[in-house]
Amino acid sequence: MILDENAIHRSLTAEVSGREEVSDVLAKALELKGLDCRDINVLAGISDPEQIDAMYAAAREVKDRIYGRRLVLFAPLYVSSFCGNECIYCAFRAGNRAIKRRALTQDEIASETGILVSEGHKRVLLVAGEDHGDDGFRYVLRALETVYGVRRGHGGIRRVNVNIAPLDVGGFRELKDSGIGTYQLFQETYHSKTYERVHRGGRKRDYQWRITAMDRAMEAGIDDVGIGVLFGLYDWRFEIMAMMQHVRHLEGAFGTGPHTISVPRLEPASGSKLAGRPPHPVSDGDFRKIVAILRLAVPYTGIIMSTRETPEMRRDTFSLGVSQISAGSRTDPGGYGDARAENGQFSLGDQRPLDEVIRDIVSLGYVPSFCTGCYRLGRTGKDFMDLAKPGEIRRHCDPNAVSTFMEYCIDYASAETAAAGIQLIGRMTAEMDPPAGRKAREMLEKVRGGARDVFC
Ligand code: SAM
Ligand code: SF4
Repeated sequence: MILDENAIHRSLTAEVSGREEVSDVLAKALELKGLDCRDINVLAGISDPEQIDAMYAAAREVKDRIYGRRLVLFAPLYVSSFCGNECIYCAFRAGNRAIKRRALTQDEIASETGILVSEGHKRVLLVAGEDHGDDGFRYVLRALETVYGVRRGHGGIRRVNVNIAPLDVGGFRELKDSGIGTYQLFQETYHSKTYERVHRGGRKRDYQWRITAMDRAMEAGIDDVGIGVLFGLYDWRFEIMAMMQHVRHLEGAFGTGPHTISVPRLEPASGSKLAGRPPHPVSDGDFRKIVAILRLAVPYTGIIMSTRETPEMRRDTFSLGVSQISAGSRTDPGGYGDARAENGQFSLGDQRPLDEVIRDIVSLGYVPSFCTGCYRLGRTGKDFMDLAKPGEIRRHCDPNAVSTFMEYCIDYASAETAAAGIQLIGRMTAEMDPPAGRKAREMLEKVRGGARDVFC
């Protein structure tokens, strides 16, 4: 059994929490060994502003020690809005007549990819509705091949992550063989009754099939998996405790937990009443808490923040624990080529183009990273975690971040962004520990000399 819902309900109603207890949990979190459900319950119950500040300070420290000032960037690539499921929060649900459906042809997928490459992206997240049958899956495999095959100007996409419906073990093996990076799938809600209420039809109605998907993916050899909850469907406290049980289950069964956790909040979606009025709305304050608690609870797992959120909220959460963000996103198939297309999956809080997001990130002192080094060198799953845990990964990540960002500054950035970016790269390199700094300078030299895709 992956989840014990009753145990979570018991924890939620347990007496918490004295000031001392909060300090103990924060001290434990700073040892970077993660937190259990009881600890999470203590942090979720905090309402005193001083204690909240102490929790945020601890989250900032953990983020800084493990991830430094890097933020990894990607763009979603929606290929099809056809779907056989009836998720009542989603515009793509089968019965929704408010949107026009589209499945991109392979040529159209190549053209959308070309646009992302020309903007400077190196990582995409391929997204599709759940189309029934083998054909739907073959279409995704062809799409992956197409994306990897696109070359424009200075190169192409180097890592394709996917967010598609769960498969059986054989399907996941084929997906792995196609060269994906992370397989991402959100449980949406871990609360089984709510799950049943919001998933009215199609294969996705089966809670068990979905919650066991990561086990099948890992069994098939996909060792970078990304989990998530769609916040707003049920009580966020329950959801993060349940997510933690899921993490511990994967760690126990496969020796490593998820590579990333996503924290989508329900956004208005065309043709969905529920999306406009979430049954358990998560306030901005609680949303910041969620990010901070996750950062403390699973320090080595990346946290992904999408463009569902506004620029202000995204900025706030960078320091609290977010390590990856999407930028310049469209959520409608064909949306990059046709900016007027209006058949997106949900509304976006941040509609700024990539260059503007990057300039903003740089002004906050963060280095945008387009690194795909670990995946390309086979540092995935447990190998990645083993390297990440003692902070070793920064010896690779910091030089890779500045060298891939230098590529961006030279090849794609506006003059203003390039100037600010190159200055920041200089500062960051000077602050690295000596071996990482030496490596970074060597790699930057190569990039300035015209070499591309330099990583360690
Ligand atoms: N169809 C696949 C699935 O459902 O797993 C994968 C793609 S689906 C388009 C990706 C994610 O979008 C879903 O897992 C869900 O969490 C999110 N989503 C759907 N409707 C949303 C909404 N109204 N606001 C925010 N996120 C939403
Ligand atoms: Fe289909 Fe995914 Fe939307 Fe559900 S969330 S309707 S499965 S695209």
